[in-house]
Amino acid sequence: MYQYPFYTLSPQPSTVAPQKKLLKDQYEVLQIELGSGTYGKVKLALNHKINKKFAIKIISKSYMKQIFATQHILNELNYLQGCKHKNIVEYIEHFEDRDNIYIVLEYCEQGTLDELIKIKQKLTEEKAFHYFYQIAQAILYLHEKDIIHRDIKADNILLQNNNVKVCDFNWSIFLPNGGKAKPCVCGTTEYMPPEVITKQKHDKGVDIWSLGILLYYMLHGELLFRSKHKEELYEKICNKQQIKFNEKLSNECILLFQQMLAHQKRINIQQVLNSDWVIKMLKCKQNQNQLELTPIKCRSTAQESTRVSIVSDSSRFSNSKFTAKSLYTESPYKSKNQNQEIQHPMKVRSSALDQNNPAFRVEKRYFY
Ligand code: ADP
Repeated sequence: MYQYPFYTLSPQPSTVAPQKKLLKDQYEVLQIELGSGTYGKVKLALNHKINKKFAIKIISKSYMKQIFATQHILNELNYLQGCKHKNIVEYIEHFEDRDNIYIVLEYCEQGTLDELIKIKQKLTEEKAFHYFYQIAQAILYLHEKDIIHRDIKADNILLQNNNVKVCDFNWSIFLPNGGKAKPCVCGTTEYMPPEVITKQKHDKGVDIWSLGILLYYMLHGELLFRSKHKEELYEKICNKQQIKFNEKLSNECILLFQQMLAHQKRINIQQVLNSDWVIKMLKCKQNQNQLELTPIKCRSTAQESTRVSIVSDSSRFSNSKFTAKSLYTESPYKSKNQNQEIQHPMKVRSSALDQNNPAFRVEKRYFY
């Protein structure tokens, strides 16, 4: 009987590696799922051209049949593309194939704030402030552009290098000239303010309420309003009940809660950033930063003079006379030996710091 030759040949190992399927000829979608959203999965991808990791949001086009979903997906794309801020996740690009829309975002390797709170259970005021202040900066940026996020919550706060990156603009809305949004139930129930639940017109105050709920969650390790039953949850949110706070919380912090969770006359984001608690916490941070100024390691190639810039850390001052100051200080520890590292603290003249203004931080730079 005739035998086909390949039956008799032992299989030869292939020397050619199987071709990886690359999206847009550059992104290899790895089998690592970063999270799942309302309209699909978020996966880790490697850009082969620049050898860098990104997050890719993969949205099935089948959702585009629903008007609501289409609006959400367009929102996500529009607002991500239009917003550039250090505390908002960076949009890289988007593209599509027959089945999906792909949104490429910077990769936030530390996951979400929700995951962090679940691990830590609750954060100290200092730790919570670290995240709170950055989220407030992102909200200030959005509100100044007349954008309301409408879904501020711990799951939508990504962390990268311990810094905050706000994501998920599905529910966002542009409301110019102090306009109000039509009544609609939007966002996530536990974080919704009473005016959304009772289907009234609403405005930027929605984000302030949600930020207050998020601050409570960070400091207590549990949400302020919880229930398995939606109706009961609605009732808890809308009834003006006495809030139970962790007894170790500072009075300034409790006062801020009351102002952010007010049913009427809620404070705005500028007032949040000017609140006694924020000012006090910034002052503490500034004092720590002063300690962190030591020791400065001068590399031998660095010039002996160090430029110390005092810059405003807050856009509250961006238009004010405090925007930036700078001066040169001579290192008091000049090294005679070029190769010797200087371990001594660099002294910064105290006049360089505006002591009355806690929003200033000190930046050190060497010139080569
Ligand atoms: P959706 O808008 O569909 O709700 P999200 O934008 O909230 O989706 O993303 C869902 C989850 O995916 C997030 O909670 C997070 O766990 C993960 N994720 C999203 N974007 C990134 C990113 N850039 N880096 C890391 N993880 C991400």
